[in-house]
Amino acid sequence: MSTLTIDKPLANVIVIGAQWGDEGKGKITDLLSKSADVVVRYQGGVNAGHTVVVKGQTFKLHLIPSGILHPETQCIIGSGTVIDPGVLIQELDQLESLNISTRNLLISETAHVTMPYHRLIDRASEERRGIHKIGTTGRGIGPTYADKSERTGIRVLDLMDAVSLRQQLHRTIASKNVILEKLYDLPPLDPEAVIEEYLEYADRLRPHVVDSSLKIYEAVQRRRNILFEGAQGTLLDLDHGTYPYVTSSNPVAGGACVGAGVGPTMIDRVIGVAKAYTTRVGEGPFPTEIHGEMGEILCDRGAEFGTTTGRKRRCGWFDAVIGRYAVRINGLDCLAVTKLDVLDEVEEIKVCVAYDLDGKRCEDFPSNARHFAQCQPIYKTLPGWKRPTDQCRTLDDLPRQALDYLKFLAELMEVPIAIVSLGASRDQTIIVEDPIHGPKRALLYTNGSPITAEV
Ligand code: GDP
Repeated sequence: MSTLTIDKPLANVIVIGAQWGDEGKGKITDLLSKSADVVVRYQGGVNAGHTVVVKGQTFKLHLIPSGILHPETQCIIGSGTVIDPGVLIQELDQLESLNISTRNLLISETAHVTMPYHRLIDRASEERRGIHKIGTTGRGIGPTYADKSERTGIRVLDLMDAVSLRQQLHRTIASKNVILEKLYDLPPLDPEAVIEEYLEYADRLRPHVVDSSLKIYEAVQRRRNILFEGAQGTLLDLDHGTYPYVTSSNPVAGGACVGAGVGPTMIDRVIGVAKAYTTRVGEGPFPTEIHGEMGEILCDRGAEFGTTTGRKRRCGWFDAVIGRYAVRINGLDCLAVTKLDVLDEVEEIKVCVAYDLDGKRCEDFPSNARHFAQCQPIYKTLPGWKRPTDQCRTLDDLPRQALDYLKFLAELMEVPIAIVSLGASRDQTIIVEDPIHGPKRALLYTNGSPITAEV
């Protein structure tokens, strides 16, 4: 029998999205954080969104790590994130009103803070791009990271110091007002009103603010289990994603070290989360996108609407080229495949095994965005199983075609599948192999012997 208990100690694990985000990382990190002492969010801001269902109750989290749903787990918002304090406070209030304690939440003092001008500039610049828009969430995340790179950002530690905040904001808002008024024809901001609003936020957040990298290091020294939770996904990575249709931070596994402030030698495992099909929200090329009825079916069955923006997600077949790319860029040890149940009614399932680029077969993800936009998928078609899987709890319970589908994906990507998710709740999960303590890069998928369903 499979069990959800993964409770052996000592492993520092990164969980990343292996596609374009929304893979169901929230559910997987929630499952794994049961055995984690510390959960760290290392990049992104309130543009991310995880939906976690616990005992029939739905929690929508944007910035706070999913580990908050486990009362003993310490949650850290690391220095690589950007924090919109007003939204973070709303999230804290929402959790408290549902009797979820937030006392274990720590916030990095070196994380950057999203200000009202970031949100205004984000929306105005996206509008100005017209047909070339990136599809940002309009939450000010990109402009916050841009100020960080330009060395004009406000950090949490500045927010905690009224004198420094007042000085910095007077200077910064004066120059941002020029942009708002002259470039975007918007009214200027009143610095005093912004300062007053943010000093109130500071008072509320102060008890949570720490040197987070030090806290994480202390946890490593005390041999605590640490889970690093990525937001967005590999193909949205600023450096390695489908630029310019990417997010403004580094969701890939390497980003965890920078964003949390830990050395790579402290990481034991990297787990990728991928849907059994593919979705993408916002603009940008998407070779396996399904236009028409089948796309609508996947969207409806998978409830493919953004947690943060409510935007409808574009749906497509599983793309093993980007899957292999995610394995490479993140050094994945294993994969959690989610939403297999969404394919339950599908007669025939396509998997993109390679691309056709100008008549040439292309098995590797092209780093040139123009080439990627021209790629045509080469599909292999597999039979569907036409049976509900949401009650399956072991691999033996799965229809043969579903098992064959999973094995095919694992073989194509050359990575073992450790977890299969068949529904939003915690129990709708098959643990194929303990993702943290099982054999590293076990060749479960090629040895031809039955995959054990026991942990
Ligand atoms: P994340 O940001 O990667 O955590 O993804 P989201 O939370 O934005 O989207 C995943 C959605 O799928 C959420 O609504 C989850 O509750 C839901 N979900 C997660 N795993 C499964 C699954 O195996 N089957 C189904 N049907 N839904 C799932």
